[in-house]
Amino acid sequence: MSSFPKYAYFEGKIVPFEQATLSVMNHTFNYGTGAFGGLRGYWNEEEKQLFVFRPLDHFKRFLNSARLLAFKLDYTPEKLVDILLELLRTEGWQTNVYIRPVAYVTSNVIGVRLNDLDYGVTIFSLPFGSYVPNEEGTHVTFSSWRRIDDNSIPARGKITGAYINSALIKTDALLAGFDEALVLNQDGHISEGSAENFFMIRDGVAYTPPVTANILEGITRRTIMHLLREELGVEVVEREIDRTEVYLADEAFFCGTGVQVAAITKVDHRPIGDGRMGPIVTRLRDLYFDVVAGRVEKYRHWNVPVYEK
Ligand code: PMP
Repeated sequence: MSSFPKYAYFEGKIVPFEQATLSVMNHTFNYGTGAFGGLRGYWNEEEKQLFVFRPLDHFKRFLNSARLLAFKLDYTPEKLVDILLELLRTEGWQTNVYIRPVAYVTSNVIGVRLNDLDYGVTIFSLPFGSYVPNEEGTHVTFSSWRRIDDNSIPARGKITGAYINSALIKTDALLAGFDEALVLNQDGHISEGSAENFFMIRDGVAYTPPVTANILEGITRRTIMHLLREELGVEVVEREIDRTEVYLADEAFFCGTGVQVAAITKVDHRPIGDGRMGPIVTRLRDLYFDVVAGRVEKYRHWNVPVYEK
């Protein structure tokens, strides 16, 4: 099967992927003036069904990210879900996929600003596997880069140009031989990874940085907080986290649409707990994969089926 999109939603309709192209003078291409999203669709072989995970929540954040850039867009989250389902049916995927919506400036114009421009939305999807190579034993370092500050670039939204920060963080981590990096904010507290939210477990309690720590307001983070509390009976506390607390954590993990749930087993060459994926993260990962694939009745409202039965 091709791992390339065959179609895209572009300029208001579904077109062959090759037709979804922009000018080199495009404003978003030149200045990073876009907002985007990242969703996953999970193929459920027993039901022969593709389930998109929490698309309404993803498209709400997507439109909020565009709002942070003062984009004027004629879309509702519900309308975007409908467009996405039509796109996925046209593709006919029978495998796990990644979905990328982008809100961008359609104007071909020189001049850095966000007002008095034209705006549009494109969506494409492609087969997709793991995002980090070792989801059961990720080795991370603390980045020497700081996470973008909300007073410079909106940190709580997915802003295209802001991902230079993520790219610098990830590149340096990979070139230094790590799988990922933890990033401190301007206050010196932990924000998140290069493209995923962070949790640690100490003495049976889960801790994660608050939404005011310059984190992206992750949909997976919200899902995980719910599953920890309601299904695993683990207390979740949102508060600032210091660097050396992580060294003393019993367990730690990243979560995000791409990374899903990835156990962090070593930080700066120090083992987390006994250096292997711990019991809470093990249970959480199993549960998460059941939930996203539509195998947990209680959470089926998060799984939106693509194909009509
Ligand atoms: N932080 C950043 C910087 C990200 O890019 C992502 C991926 N969207 C996340 C966290 C996780 O967010 P979500 O769970 O909504 O995918």
